[in-house]
Amino acid sequence: MATPINKVAVIGAGVMGAGIAAHIANAGIPVVLLDIVPADAENRNVIAETAVQKMLKADPAPFMTKGCARNIQTGNLEDDLPRLADCDWIIEAVVERLDIKQDLYRKLDSVRKKGCIVSSNTSTIPLESLTKGLSDAFARDFCITHFFNPPRYMRLLEVVRGPQTRAEAIDAVSTFCDLKLGKSVVHCQDRPGFIGNRLGILWILAAVVEAMDNDISIEEADAILGRPFGIPKTGVFGLMDLVGLDLMPHILQSMLSLLPKTDAFHVINRDLALIRTMIADGYTGRKGKGGFYRINRTGTEKIKEGIDLKTGQYRVSAKPQLASLDAAKEAGKKAGQVLLSHPDKGGRYARRVMARTLSYAASLIPDVTASVDDIDEAMRLGYNWKFGPFQLADQIGPDALIAILKQEGMPVPAFLETASGKSFYQIENGRRMALSPDGSWKELARPDGVVLLEDIKRTAKPLLKNGSASLWDIGDGVACLEFTSKMNSLDPEILKMISQTVRFIPKNGFKALLVYNEGSNFSVGANLGLAIFAANIAAWPMIEEMVENGQKAYMALKRAPFPVVGAPSGMALGGGCEILLHCDAVQAHAETYMGLVEVGVGLIPGWGGCKEMLHRLSIHPALPKGPMPPVAKAFETISTATVAKSAMEAKERGFLRDSDGITMNRYRLLADAKAKALAMVQGYKPAEPIELKLPGETGKVAMEMALGQFRRMGKATPYDEVVSLELANILSGGETDHTETLTEDNILALERSSFMRLVRQKGTLDRVEHMLLTGKPLRN
Ligand code: NAD
Repeated sequence: MATPINKVAVIGAGVMGAGIAAHIANAGIPVVLLDIVPADAENRNVIAETAVQKMLKADPAPFMTKGCARNIQTGNLEDDLPRLADCDWIIEAVVERLDIKQDLYRKLDSVRKKGCIVSSNTSTIPLESLTKGLSDAFARDFCITHFFNPPRYMRLLEVVRGPQTRAEAIDAVSTFCDLKLGKSVVHCQDRPGFIGNRLGILWILAAVVEAMDNDISIEEADAILGRPFGIPKTGVFGLMDLVGLDLMPHILQSMLSLLPKTDAFHVINRDLALIRTMIADGYTGRKGKGGFYRINRTGTEKIKEGIDLKTGQYRVSAKPQLASLDAAKEAGKKAGQVLLSHPDKGGRYARRVMARTLSYAASLIPDVTASVDDIDEAMRLGYNWKFGPFQLADQIGPDALIAILKQEGMPVPAFLETASGKSFYQIENGRRMALSPDGSWKELARPDGVVLLEDIKRTAKPLLKNGSASLWDIGDGVACLEFTSKMNSLDPEILKMISQTVRFIPKNGFKALLVYNEGSNFSVGANLGLAIFAANIAAWPMIEEMVENGQKAYMALKRAPFPVVGAPSGMALGGGCEILLHCDAVQAHAETYMGLVEVGVGLIPGWGGCKEMLHRLSIHPALPKGPMPPVAKAFETISTATVAKSAMEAKERGFLRDSDGITMNRYRLLADAKAKALAMVQGYKPAEPIELKLPGETGKVAMEMALGQFRRMGKATPYDEVVSLELANILSGGETDHTETLTEDNILALERSSFMRLVRQKGTLDRVEHMLLTGKPLRN
């Protein structure tokens, strides 16, 4: 059993230290954040305090709710070292200089309590150097914990232990980071750049050098190295702009100084004068004047420009035109393979960069890690690649990859030879197996408390299935409803599946239901394409039926004789939010973004969202009692299409209840949700029907006045007003007053009639069309 970590300190309140402190604060753990006292500072804590203030305004937000900031105590390294005495873990995140770090460690060693773990966030300094000359006791409690930027959102944590580090210290840090911070912990050897940066920077370096050598523009490079390989569309030049060009030479230099001359880094590297000049001129990327790309504003016009790699001059950025890219686009899931075998210069570029990168990944085994899955996980979570390098290598086939390397005159690493005639992964009786350095197969077991639907699906057949949803048996009498439509958008098939499921569960001996899936977003809402199609042919009865069927399906879930637990991660918008509002309980991944955003497309929540929000807000502990406060709050939330930016914020806004659970680690969500559902089975009774007293006309007038003010301030557009008036009508209860009691059906009927009035209006159809075309709301 690892020692629990109850209090943490972070030293260094720069980009990383502040972000790490914020994320520990998100976990509800008290954290002390210290930095130096700047010369002549009036406020001796100015660095740490300013860092926290800046983070409260930053977007994307480092804090899950502003209130989390209260868990951080700020201070400075001259006055506040004694405050570290009761910390269980001290994280050092100061400037990347060995002398400064070691000097700090000596100070920490004199104040830390016995057994307090100390770790460094260094990107490049070996652990061996960090601990050199320090006491054995210090070395036993020391390790490297390498967070990625930004610490709240990047799920990878690389952990490096030294020869003396206590196993319990590694265990304590790993468990804490997994459960409390939601990180996927990858253990690596003490090697330069660990895994993520070692491979990631090599990939970037190869991409830059090969683009220069092969007459590839930055737009072509990003289009080739991005989407076709499941890599974010920023590709490589866009990525450098994002993280800052100035970081590159620094990390590259330290990599070169630490790696042997035979390493691919030395083979590929050369003086990149263009990047040097760009940094010197302040073109450090998005944080500077621009980077490889920039937006040129002339008058009201915004023109996207990109750098010509040959001349170093900006020119208008153009969409790349290459036969290989066209072929890749046609090839769908096989885009990467098609690119790699294409004869044009784009194909050659893909081969030069990707084959080099994948073979470099193989060359890191077993020196950096013995596990292909660790390398894949590092690239998936540290660089947001959809597939790790070994998964990509399996898609191509190890032998085809070897052939490309030979054709391009690049070395074939021993481990890649080992994979010849095989693959790096295989499934054996449903178990995931990975190739070991000696050519044998080793099972990749999931840790306790980690269950993935992906694994269950590998061996099972769905209980029910249609074109947009499936129902799975996940064991112990629990079934799981999975959306499988594009972007998990909700459509009639899903509604049909919900109704079928509600009948199926009790008849077939199941005790509880989860609504869960492993898409990047739980659901982005109703399928707007279907709605606009029906509206364009004036199929109003069809639309009304869809609204009614949605209401019925969600009510059936709510009234079902068994517990229903929603388990979202990512976006849960519109109808996706409404289904969660109808679950008996929710176990949400911390990174869940809930919102009723229908007004953005000129509609109102029509599947019970207004009804459920009114109820939740009427019992919300932070709101005053009486008919008006919940109505006003629901109006504010829905009319502004507010999206909660974390599960924690969703609780504050009333989308989630206090009793709903939050899971920090995405991998643990399914098991946590299942446990929650099972705990509800004994003595389960569906929720009592809601009865609401709503203000009627007086409430409507109050909302109209608020709306008028928004109009005058220019915050609401003319069509916002039309939509909001419908919303005000529903939320105030229509023709009612506070002496009357309204049932759920009464409010659902109000939602339906408002929805049907709005969907017939041009303003709404314009909004829907614009959203479908651009992905952005129209402000008409
Ligand atoms: P930063 O420059 O933003 O912050 C460094 C902080 O160290 C500053 O607040 C500074 O005041 C403080 N500092 C300077 N001299 C000090 C001293 N003598 N004693 C104590 N504190 C001192 O740097 P950063 O990007 O946050 O990097 C911090 C560490 O994290 C480095 O080791 C870096 O390699 C590593 N890292 C950075 C990133 C990244 O993307 N920036 C990612 C992973 C790891």
